[in-house]
Amino acid sequence: MAGEPQPDCLFCKIVAGEIPATIVRETETTVAFRDISPQAPTHVLVIPRVHHPDAASLAAADPGAAADVLREAGEVAAQEKVDGTGYRIVFNTGPGAGQTVFHAHAHVLGGRDLQRLV
Ligand code: 5GP
Repeated sequence: MAGEPQPDCLFCKIVAGEIPATIVRETETTVAFRDISPQAPTHVLVIPRVHHPDAASLAAADPGAAADVLREAGEVAAQEKVDGTGYRIVFNTGPGAGQTVFHAHAHVLGGRDLQRLV
């Protein structure tokens, strides 16, 4: 069923505490943890506790959880003190865009000069 934990999902296992992660913030609806392969001094992933394969399907099925992820991305940036200089929130969506884990997540990147993408 939509939103239910998926047995083979890496991020569902992090939510369940079955796989360790360096958690930086948690709320009732989200978990934020450091990316295992950081691409910037701050590289934190914010995920909803519910399972949806990508950000668009999360927003369609559970707009409240999608808003929580976005709000938490801002809270992470403030906690990491990158909100003053600027940071990037990225939702890779689909394999062609580089998505490799199919549980919706926001990358929060900061702490270095980030080239303009668009
Ligand atoms: P995507 O490529 O789907 O946008 O992002 C998935 C991210 O998850 C990648 O940046 C990757 O480094 C990160 N990642 C993959 N496996 C793990 C893991 O076991 N632990 C943590 N903390 N991050 C992971």
